[in-house]
Amino acid sequence: MRILVTGGTGYIGATAVDILLSQGYEISILDDCSTGHADTVPAGVNFIQGSLLRAGDLAQALVGVDAVIHFAGKSLVGESVEKPELYQEVNVQGSRNLLNQMHMSGVTKLVFSSSAATYGEPEHVPILESAATNPTNPYGATKLAIDHMITAEAASRQIAAASLRYFNVAGALKSKRGWLAERHYPETHLIPNVLRSTKENPVKIFGSDWPTADGTCVRDYVHVVDLIDAHIKALESLRPGVHEIYNLGSGDGYSVRAVVAAASKAAGFDIPTVDSPRRAGDPAVLIADINKAKTKLNWAPTRGIDVMVADTLASFS
Ligand code: UDP
Repeated sequence: MRILVTGGTGYIGATAVDILLSQGYEISILDDCSTGHADTVPAGVNFIQGSLLRAGDLAQALVGVDAVIHFAGKSLVGESVEKPELYQEVNVQGSRNLLNQMHMSGVTKLVFSSSAATYGEPEHVPILESAATNPTNPYGATKLAIDHMITAEAASRQIAAASLRYFNVAGALKSKRGWLAERHYPETHLIPNVLRSTKENPVKIFGSDWPTADGTCVRDYVHVVDLIDAHIKALESLRPGVHEIYNLGSGDGYSVRAVVAAASKAAGFDIPTVDSPRRAGDPAVLIADINKAKTKLNWAPTRGIDVMVADTLASFS
């Protein structure tokens, strides 16, 4: 079975490529390397360095493909508040182009990287897939627009699809070629920033006046290897004409200060921090209800926050 992995040179996509190859899948990658890294591409992979915004690149990437795992896209909440049109173009138009080209190429299976950002500020936590979707930032709005597009595509063209709504992905994978880990410039994600914190340049805590137990935002962290495991299970369970939505998290919440404490334990010293203003677009608490993925996909995360922090730390050396 050949899978097209869009965004296959990014943090999550490259991890997926490595795990899929190890399980015997054949891989094609479409990635413009705008945020990914071509040096992650393993030998034997059909790599098209191209864009979702160019039909020719998409057509080339879909040759001989049985299913698509669609990771490619812009994924930063803060950036999306500053550049909403960029998110609209790359995420929404790019995904529209992908669906059109899949139809023309006769590819009918799709697993999509959606996001907990589709829910916005939740009325209830943990969040169910049936919860209201009121994104608080343009990033979440684009992911929701794509989810709706895929639902329509399943109804009208009978594609078999799953949207996986990620909560906070963390950790790293030690592959034969070295660590596959977050390499964002600048890095905006909490765990790598905490682990790189120094006295001179301490990690900023974005808001300490949130309505949470310790005043900092609460998020649900899931290890990237567990996350990819769920993608493979979702892929193998696709049904024509059906678009399933699954939350992927751990089902537990950690405040920013709790993450700093876990990282301090792994590092062996107290990591310096500085209280800073809230970041635009952040909801206070996001915790997944993961029972649907557990029961329907027979999936369960097995790596906790300590493993995520330890793997990220190990990937730096
Ligand atoms: N955060 C923080 N300092 C940082 C990076 C993130 O306090 O340097 C907070 C952020 O406000 C959010 C949580 O940590 O509450 C997780 O943020 P991240 O950017 O890792 O993921 P997101 O929740 O935006 O997907």
